[in-house]
This record gives sequence, C-alpha cells and structure tokens, in this order.
Amino acid sequence: MSKGVLYVVATPIGNLDDISMRAVEILREVDLIAAEDTRHTKPLLRHYAIDTPMQSFHEHNERAQVAKLTEVLQSGRSVALVSDAGTPLISDPGFPLVREAAGLGIRIVPVPGPSAMTCALSAAGLPTDRFLFAGFPPRNQGQRRDWLGELIRERATLVFYESSHRIVASLKAMVEVFGGEREAVIAREVTKLHETFLRGSLDELLSQVEQDANQRKGEFVVLVAGAPAGSTEMQAEIVVDQLLSRLLDELPLKRAVALVAELTGNKKNKLYDQALRIKESRV
Ligand code: SAM
Repeated sequence: MSKGVLYVVATPIGNLDDISMRAVEILREVDLIAAEDTRHTKPLLRHYAIDTPMQSFHEHNERAQVAKLTEVLQSGRSVALVSDAGTPLISDPGFPLVREAAGLGIRIVPVPGPSAMTCALSAAGLPTDRFLFAGFPPRNQGQRRDWLGELIRERATLVFYESSHRIVASLKAMVEVFGGEREAVIAREVTKLHETFLRGSLDELLSQVEQDANQRKGEFVVLVAGAPAGSTEMQAEIVVDQLLSRLLDELPLKRAVALVAELTGNKKNKLYDQALRIKESRV
C-alpha cells in the first residue's frame, strides 16, 4: 500500500480570511486533521464548512501521537497538521512528527500561509536581509538575561515572541542586555482588530508599554535591530555592562563595582552609576 501524505498547513494568526484556498481544499480532502487544540481549530473549520475528522496533537501527547499518526500515514491515509495559529513547528508542536515522518520516507508537503514572525518582519521597517528568529525568551529572569546575552553581538535583526504576561519583563531585560538605545519594533495583535506597531528605541518602547495598559494586552512579536557594526570601544562597553549585570546577581553593589573596576580598568564612579541603572531597570 502506498503511503499517505503529511500536509503541514499554516492557518490564520487572527483574521480568519488569512488562509490560502489550497489550505482550505486540503483541510477538506485529507482523512484526518491533527490539531494542536481541536476546540481552537473548530471555528476555522466551521467558517469554511469543513467537516474532516480531527484529532488533538499537542505538546503533552505529541510523542504518543507520533506513533499513531505515522501508522495512519503508512496505511495510505493523509493527515493535515495544524496548530492554533500560524505555521506549525514555529514555536508550536509538530517537530517530532515531521522528523519521524521524514525518517520513514513519508511525503511531507508544506502548505504555506501566515506566521507571526514573517508578518511582523514584513511591516516592521527593520532590515530583513538577515534575521534571526529566536522564539520565546526563557521565563526565568537569570536564564533570560544569559540567553539574550548570547545574542548581544548578533548583526541580524532579532525576532522574539512574547506573551502579555512577560512583555514588560522581557523588554526590561532587552534594555539591560542590548542597551536602551537599540532600535526596536513591537508588533502587537497582528491582523487583528487592535493591530499596533510601536517603533522606537528599546527605552522608549519599554516606557510606552509600561504607561499604557492597552499596549500590554494581546500577542506580541518583538523585533530588535542587530548590533551595529560599531567600534571595539562600544563592544567593550557591552561586555562591561554584562559583567556588571551578572556580578550584581551574586554580590552587593559596591563589591560588584570594585571587581569590575579592577578587572576592566573602568572608573569606579562611572561603574557605580551604571550599576544603579541596572538595578533600577530590574525593579
Ligand atoms: N506558529 C505561530 C506562528 O507561526 O507565528 C506561533 C505560535 S506561538 C505559540 C504564539 C506566539 O506567536 C504568541 O505568543 C506571539 O508571540 C506570536 N503571535 C501569534 N499570533 C500573533 C499576532 N496575531 N500578533 C502578534 N504576535 C503573534
């Protein structure tokens, strides 16, 4: 028996009209739709009068479902994989299934459509010739700072996903790690009623979001301009900032300042002001 096809189908990230005609056709014709959350996908299917059977396929049952779905595919039936919004596998479930299917020689067909990252990039006004999609920053404060720290010298435009719960904390961490002057864009509720693009420096964006509760609602893509070609002087400043920031996690302010002064030859009073700014940005 010939194997079935696994379709990886992009669905809207807000506006239900943002789905391709081919995607609608495929969702109608496959034997089974594997959906991240069947309750979430139901309105979309209803909207397009699609009555294909659905099966849930989310993070918690992903591994167990891979075996079942590959069996379905190997029996010659076709499956469409969809997530709650946008392109499956992009900060969404699906990777183990696609990998396993690829290993088994099953045909995998992408059915392209929206993804919040490409939508945001296309309208942000930041360079798009090179970009790095980083996904969600870690939730833990220390881990988040270290994780962002690894991107400090990246020249490509950085693209992050963030939720309303952590948008302020993440922006604060970005100010701390990349510096408040770095140019950035916050794309919120893209393709939805309250779509907003905020453009400015990280400092400006943080204060706008802090001051306006509406700007903390919904879903976010945060785009940060890549590191400027910059002088070695500037790179050194960034390293000093990172070092100070890390030592402030472990030591009293005075001790952290004294150590950084000793290690880098920077003036204590300048480092003291810098340390105070870092502390304030963490409140
Ligand atoms: N697979 C999806 C995609 O292709 O964009 C992403 C899924 S991920 C679990 C959800 C995150 O994507 C949200 O927390 C937010 O960061 C971003 N996102 C999704 N829809 C969005 C929208 N309409 N506007 C802004 N960001 C959005």
